[in-house]
This record gives sequence, C-alpha cells and structure tokens, in this order.
Amino acid sequence: MIGSPFPMPSSTTTKTTTNATGSPCAACKFLRRKCQLDCVFAPYFPPDQPQKFANVHKVFGASNVTKLLNELHPMQREDAVNSLAYEADMRLRDPVYGCVGVISLLQHQLRQLQIDLSLARSQLSKYHQSSSSSFTTTTNFFGGFREPTAGAVPHEELWSVIQ
Ligand SMILES: [Zn+2]
Repeated sequence: MIGSPFPMPSSTTTKTTTNATGSPCAACKFLRRKCQLDCVFAPYFPPDQPQKFANVHKVFGASNVTKLLNELHPMQREDAVNSLAYEADMRLRDPVYGCVGVISLLQHQLRQLQIDLSLARSQLSKYHQSSSSSFTTTTNFFGGFREPTAGAVPHEELWSVIQ
C-alpha cells in the first residue's frame, strides 16, 4: 500500500474552487473586490451568471443581501438567493409592481377559474338532475349522463353545443 493520494486537509488545498484559482464569483467581480474562500456569495453567484448578481445588487443592495444570507441557515441560502434573483428580475422588468404584478395576475386567474369551475359543476348537476329524473329506469354508470338518447336536450342540439 502506498500512502493516501490525498494529503492532509488544509484550508488552502482541500477546495480548489473558482474563487481560489483567481476567478472571483460574480458578486466579487461586480464589486471589484477579492473573492475570499469564505465568500458568502460564491456558492450562489457563479462567475458565468453576472447578471444574476447585478440585478440583486441593483434592487436589494449587496450589504442587505450579505446581511440576509448571514442570518439564514446555509441550507436555506440557495432558495433565498433564487427568490431574491427572481424578485429583482421582476422588479427591474416592472418597476411599479415587480413580482406582485405576476402574483396578483395569477390570483385573479385562479379566482376566475374557481368561479368557472363551480359554474360548470352547478350546470352539470342541473343537467344530471333533469337527465336522471326523465329516465328513472335506465341509469348507466354515469347516471344516464352519457346515454345518447337520454335527457330533455335533443342529441343534435347537444352536439351543436359541444362543437
Ligand atoms: Zn466572492
């Protein structure tokens, strides 16, 4: 057996991250400062995504982001950075509403769809009631709903509604 190929860990040789080899993370490059090994931004702002940090910095400010990340558990930081990047991106696209514009639009669509759904359900139950009341003897699996000749509405008329 030869010796372990891995030397004893030391703070300078264990990690050959990009910030250690001279290529700073996107944040440090933007801020024109030396990217330290313990740079809080380095894991989340890789050098190949410069716009991500530029947006976050423009909207939130680097010191606020540093403070926020340091207050979070390391496990939560990536999610926090991703949400900050999304919020910043949306704020720059829409200076008035930011991501709130998208949220309220989606909430409006959701409410509209819920209204449409309950309307469709009540129409369906009305049709179902009238269909089953006129044909009490022939109830198939769908309670007469799919019975081609069943119901008060003529078959041809139904098709014209569907098509
Ligand atoms: Zn850095």
